[in-house]
Amino acid sequence: MRASQEGRGEKQKTSEIHISGAEGLYTLSEMQRMLRGYIERALHHPKGKPDTITLTLEKVRQEPLTISTLPLSTVISDSLSEARKISGNMLRALGISKKALRSAFAVLQKGNMRGAALISAEKGMRLEHDRRRGVRVSRLGIAKPALRILSSRLARLGINIDTVKEALILASKVASSSRVIAELCISDDPHYTTGYVASSRFGYMRIPGMKQKGRKIGGRVFFVQEGSDIDPIIQYLERTPVMVDHIGPCKGIQQAEEILDSHNL
Ligand code: AMP
Repeated sequence: MRASQEGRGEKQKTSEIHISGAEGLYTLSEMQRMLRGYIERALHHPKGKPDTITLTLEKVRQEPLTISTLPLSTVISDSLSEARKISGNMLRALGISKKALRSAFAVLQKGNMRGAALISAEKGMRLEHDRRRGVRVSRLGIAKPALRILSSRLARLGINIDTVKEALILASKVASSSRVIAELCISDDPHYTTGYVASSRFGYMRIPGMKQKGRKIGGRVFFVQEGSDIDPIIQYLERTPVMVDHIGPCKGIQQAEEILDSHNL
């Protein structure tokens, strides 16, 4: 599903505003219920009312690969600057250069992309073919038994909401791509200020307060190994069907240093 608004005002006459997007892998019997849910979501998004909603349904012939969700944790931050610092430290520990970080935060600050920016880990170069659209991770889903386990683990932490489940599934697919080192995300929902840094090395680390409440900025950045051939990465993220069939540990609040240390032993 893709929902957008035509640009308003003189300057924006030709530009389009991304309102909402969603995708998944479903059986035929689940399809009607899911489509109703997607339409509801498009019509009631906090970013505003869409002028266009596009629904695309495709039969997937390839057997999905199966993966586990990344281990989930949440760190505490008391200010925007601390939240950004924690995310930066985590990314630096993963080998992302300062230049690449600057380039990533500039993307998130600007917002209004449908997909994610691909940024090279050292030189901080934008690599995706279409910078407005970005790379849209698609063909991803979760098996019903795994969803039940995930929901009950998140409920114990008081975070059993679609936003967390969908982002964790997406981040787990992204991290399963061998050339993606890390992901940085800030939601563009003006009311949702918790962002995350995800990587196969440190898991999915939720960071509250990554933006001020009420702001529509946000987006996703995937940091890829310098010199990677990006076409196979994009092909994997956009086209290869991947299902979560196993749930990794879901921990409560942790110190960022604990997460770093536990993996550096
Ligand atoms: P959300 O987490 O839905 O608030 O999305 C925040 C931003 O992440 C969007 O504005 C897009 O730039 C990006 N994004 C959302 N969904 C995807 C996806 N499936 N693949 C890549 N990027 C996405």
